[in-house]
Amino acid sequence: MKSYAKMSKVYAPTLKEDPAEAELASHRLLLRAGLIRKHASGLYTYLPLAWRSLLKIEQVIREEMEGIDAQEMRVPILTDAGLWQQSHRWGAYGPELMRIVDRHGREFALGPTHEEAFTDVVRGELRSYKQLPVTLWQMQDKFRDELRPRFGLMRSREFIMKDAYSFASTDQMSRQCYEDEKGAYQRIFDRCGIRTLQVAADTGEIGGDSSVEFMAIADAGEAELVYCDDCGFAADTEAATAKVAISEGEAGDLQKVSTPNAGSIADVAAFLGVPENGTRKALALVDGNGTPTVVFVPGDHDMNDCKASHAFGDYHMMTDEEIQYYGLVKGFMGPIGLPEGVRVCADETLRSSEWWLVGANEKDFHFVHAKQGRDFTIPEWVDVITAKPGDTCPVCGQPLKGARGIECGQVFSFGDKYSASMGVTFTDEDGQEKPFLMGSYGIGVSRTLAAVVEQHHDDKGIKFPVCVAPYEVEIVPLTVGDDVVWPVADQIANELVAKGIEVVVDDRKERPGVKFNDADLMGFPYQVVIGKRGAQAGTVEVKCRETGEREDVSIADVASKLAEVVVPQRA
Ligand code: ATP
Ligand code: MG
Repeated sequence: MKSYAKMSKVYAPTLKEDPAEAELASHRLLLRAGLIRKHASGLYTYLPLAWRSLLKIEQVIREEMEGIDAQEMRVPILTDAGLWQQSHRWGAYGPELMRIVDRHGREFALGPTHEEAFTDVVRGELRSYKQLPVTLWQMQDKFRDELRPRFGLMRSREFIMKDAYSFASTDQMSRQCYEDEKGAYQRIFDRCGIRTLQVAADTGEIGGDSSVEFMAIADAGEAELVYCDDCGFAADTEAATAKVAISEGEAGDLQKVSTPNAGSIADVAAFLGVPENGTRKALALVDGNGTPTVVFVPGDHDMNDCKASHAFGDYHMMTDEEIQYYGLVKGFMGPIGLPEGVRVCADETLRSSEWWLVGANEKDFHFVHAKQGRDFTIPEWVDVITAKPGDTCPVCGQPLKGARGIECGQVFSFGDKYSASMGVTFTDEDGQEKPFLMGSYGIGVSRTLAAVVEQHHDDKGIKFPVCVAPYEVEIVPLTVGDDVVWPVADQIANELVAKGIEVVVDDRKERPGVKFNDADLMGFPYQVVIGKRGAQAGTVEVKCRETGEREDVSIADVASKLAEVVVPQRA
């Protein structure tokens, strides 16, 4: 029998104070509102309210997976070491993989992701190209012995993940599986009330050549992003190749100018009265082969470590001693007259720039009107700068915006990486045995709950969107068990339940202030406040947690009015 929940029975121990260890809003509020509790480092208990939210997120995922013919199933959490050895990840995964030895000395891993287990499960039994494509998925706890578990549900050592694996016979079919899953992910996050950007990603541990991360926009995010409102382009600043708008220097004869003590970009730009992006920054490093290297980047941009390692291998920035040793002049390096044997490169974005303002390789001097092709040439172009807000969108040319992002999901397409190394094949149309073409797709379900809170909160607490709220409406009678207010609360709650709304009634004998604070902290989308005077006059107050708007509504209408606003907001 459907009924309303009573707050006196809801196990949601709230905290009066902000927990000291919580830096992020989601961590702090999930603890304070009594949604989660820490069990040990990186291990959290989901209390009843969090669990209700998680089930809703999971339900949205289930519906979207059904929509693309993906089938839910379950493999064991403990996975056999032998499979990890076949894929060569037993070693490659390193200490993040949590390992277990059973009483017979056999080794297992607590699954951090399940490419091996799912590939193995179709071995020898998904046989024919005629059966393909097949996508299988599960909702399960994952384990990663993170170096620094932190931020509550954001980076924990045990977390809930939805993971899917697709098996296809052709590139085109595999691409279709990938696109279907990607489309479903966007709908999932939209339905859960999370604003996400799709960001092209490095493929990391899982490997392969095609991957997108779904990043929830939030100041608390670990990733730094640039994105374009006009065309939807988005990228990690570490990965983005932005077509930076370079301010061209003036044309003219090469001229050496005295720039006393102007050894920084800001100083030289100010001294010569040019914008910083009109100057060229020279960075001195020693590349992975031990070759002294000077790389030029636009004056207002930084070199990015991740990209630089692609370009220069295991490099390091030169120390002052090394700069001197190689005959370079700190603060005044330029492409004209560098010492022999120095590897010279510049960032791609400078390739089309003719007129450069550069150091003269002489203390306190710069060259103006240095012309590429006339006064110097750049033998090697590299992609090393960190994109930043204001750079030009490489797709449509509009200025990029900046944001931080929380990775809530990621999709990969990686061909036969696992099926080939594990020898898992199907019989193709031409009778040949071929390894499956695969993709894998993950959503951090518990991290997604944290992302919801990051995007929906204020200083009083959580502001759950209806779609993932533990309860949709909270009824706050200011007195309990009396014969004026309480019967109204009970009646409205029952009417709402009859309309299929999820209701919790704060039946605790607490002061109104306590109830209001807890209601705002827990963040149910709508509050119905019932006081004695209102009840006698036939009205209650409805408050929308998201907007803070309050409205007096007649007792007779309140259930239908709420149902009208709540139902359309469901996921
Ligand atoms: P990250 O870069 O944040 O460490 P990842 O790229 O290693 O994550 P994936 O292998 O792509 O993670 O896993 C799929 C999803 O699982 C991620 O998009 C993320 O939402 C979630 N996830 C990964 N690690 C954790 C963790 N330690 N705690 C909570 N969720 C996690
Ligand atoms: Mg990832």
